[in-house]
Amino acid sequence: MIDVKWILSEIMITQSLGEECNNEHNAFMEQAIVLAKKAASLGEVPIGAVIVHNGLVIAQAINTRESQQDATGHAEIAAIRQACRTLGSWRLCECDLYVTLEPCLMCSGAIIQARVRHLYFGAYDPKSGMAGSVFDTFALPSNHRVLVTGGILEACCGDLIRSFFIKRRNTLSFTDNTNCENDKNK
Ligand SMILES: [Zn+2]
Repeated sequence: MIDVKWILSEIMITQSLGEECNNEHNAFMEQAIVLAKKAASLGEVPIGAVIVHNGLVIAQAINTRESQQDATGHAEIAAIRQACRTLGSWRLCECDLYVTLEPCLMCSGAIIQARVRHLYFGAYDPKSGMAGSVFDTFALPSNHRVLVTGGILEACCGDLIRSFFIKRRNTLSFTDNTNCENDKNK
């Protein structure tokens, strides 16, 4: 489980020191970055997500795929579940989602299903990003149109992912997906 007190204290520190927090979107992405760093410290791919409603963060989540051994344990899915519980509704049409990496196919579908108002993501994912990099799920015909903005604090978000995978490749003890011959992220 995530230590929420730790996260909140880290967020406060980040916000007070973060020179890039020059607008609201950057501030929320900074919170997602703190979560992503926490994920990395737990051996998870460093991706963090927050959901904002009426200017308040109502959900914050990290990848838990490794710790939970759950293929659906992506930060966006966990954040959407939290937000739905908090609001008592599966419709998040007045909510904005901030995530450090361009969503995958599963998460982009969930974001549409949850009726999220606006998706803000940090780094583009040329291998599996479904907000335009590989494919644009959000451009498919749908009864709900999610507004999408990419590249928020892109350099910071991208560096987190790159450094994580460099470290992982250099760590012999890490055994993730060693049998997945087709996994491009190995
Ligand atoms: Zn995903």
